[in-house]
Order: sequence, then C-alpha cells, then structure tokens
Amino acid sequence: MRDTTVQQGPAYETTARIELRDRADTLSDRFAAQSAEDVLAAVIGTHFQGRAGLVSSFGTEAAVLLHMVSRIDPYVPVIFLDTWKHFPETLEYRDRLVNDLGLCNIQTVTPQPSGVQADDPSGDLHARNPDLCCHVRKTLPMLAALRPLSCWITGRKRGQALTRSDMQLFEVQDRWIKVNPLLDWSTADVEAYYDAHDLPPHPLKAQGYLSVGCAPCTRAVQPGEDARAGRWADSEKTECGIHFENGKMVPKSSSQR
Ligand code: SF4
Repeated sequence: MRDTTVQQGPAYETTARIELRDRADTLSDRFAAQSAEDVLAAVIGTHFQGRAGLVSSFGTEAAVLLHMVSRIDPYVPVIFLDTWKHFPETLEYRDRLVNDLGLCNIQTVTPQPSGVQADDPSGDLHARNPDLCCHVRKTLPMLAALRPLSCWITGRKRGQALTRSDMQLFEVQDRWIKVNPLLDWSTADVEAYYDAHDLPPHPLKAQGYLSVGCAPCTRAVQPGEDARAGRWADSEKTECGIHFENGKMVPKSSSQR
C-alpha cells in the first residue's frame, strides 16, 4: 500500500534560520508589554510593511483581529483557506464580516482541484488520513498564499488549549515570522472586544461550537471542555495543517516552537 504519511522535515539550522529566530525573539521582548493593537500597527506599518498578512479562519473569535486590521489598513491581505469542507455558516460569516468591516483585500485560497482529485477522490480523506487531508487542502494552498509575505498574523491564544501554552508573541515558522497579537487574551477579553465594537458572533457559536474548522472535523464542545476540544475530537490530531515546517505539516510536539 502507498505510504501517505506526512513526514516531518529534516532537522537543521541554517544561518538565515538562526537569524530569523533571533529576530523573532527580539521582537517578542520588545513588544511583550504592548497592546494587540500596538503590536499589529507596528507589524503592519513598520517592521513588515507591505509584507504582512492576516490568516483568518473566520471562526468564533476571528472578528477581533479582522476588526483591528480593518482599522489599521483595510488593504492588508486577509487569507482565507477555503478547504471546500467548511460549514456554510462560516462562508456566510466571512462575507458578512468582509462587508461590515470594509476589508478590501480578501484572498480566498483553495486546494488544487487536481490534487484533491488525486488524493481525495471520494471526499472522505479526512476520515482516513486527516493529516494528508489537511496537507492537501490547507498546507499546500497556504504555502502558495504566503509566497509574497514575510510575516503572517494569527489569532492563536495560549489559553485555547494545552498544546498552545508555550507560544511566543513572535515565532518562526519555516521562512516566515508568525505573530500572535492575542497571545494572552482570555475568552472574557474576546467577548468584551466583541461587545465594545458591536461585532456579530459566528452563527454556530450559540450551538456550542467554540472553535470552528472544517465541518467533518468539528463538533460542539461540552461544558468543561476546552474551546478546541471539538476539533478532530475522535483523533490525536490537535493542530490544523497551516502549522508547517519545511513545507510539511509538523506534529504537535514540535509545532509550538
Ligand atoms: S480539518 Fe478535516 S476536512 Fe479540513 S482539511 Fe483538515 S482533515 Fe480535511
């Protein structure tokens, strides 16, 4: 049988990579005490001017960063990975937020049809090999979308799951710097921001979906579960395919550097 395991890339440290890591560490120290808005403004307007983009799932907490970015520069690229497996509610929410916030540079990126046809002809790869499914539907399109950028902005937070507890404000991922401006935000912080700016909730939130990804891999969470417990709930998988290294998805144990 063909081996479709998504392999981890080789372990190496080039000079360029060490310098990039040093830069991320320096930026993390420098901006440690600053607000998310100030971090974003500095990233977009100074440190990565014209080379930063927001990657958004248009999930339950996405409107915070989308709102901040829209106020700083509505032409910053906003990358949405349309895996062709999203809930219709997520697509509707995306369209509503783009319109309401006046975002002017949405980039909806899809998988290559020939790749999906080759690896997932029956559309159920998520059930048989979710890592490969994420690789085809997320990682490869993501790599293409990031080509012109040096920095990507994420909405990840330390408190979302144990697997994210050691995240840093600025991190290195492959040849990119990744910035997590909402690193230390709590659920209450997010809710307060939604209220303060009258932002609409994701339509599925009221049904218990506290973290929303692709429809086949997301369920509502139960009281007491962490927000991401409903993602890949029936497998060991905890992170989606956009957290990659050397062009390949990395396992949980090494994805949080
Ligand atoms: S989240 Fe599920 S359906 Fe979406 S790309 Fe990954 S495995 Fe496939």
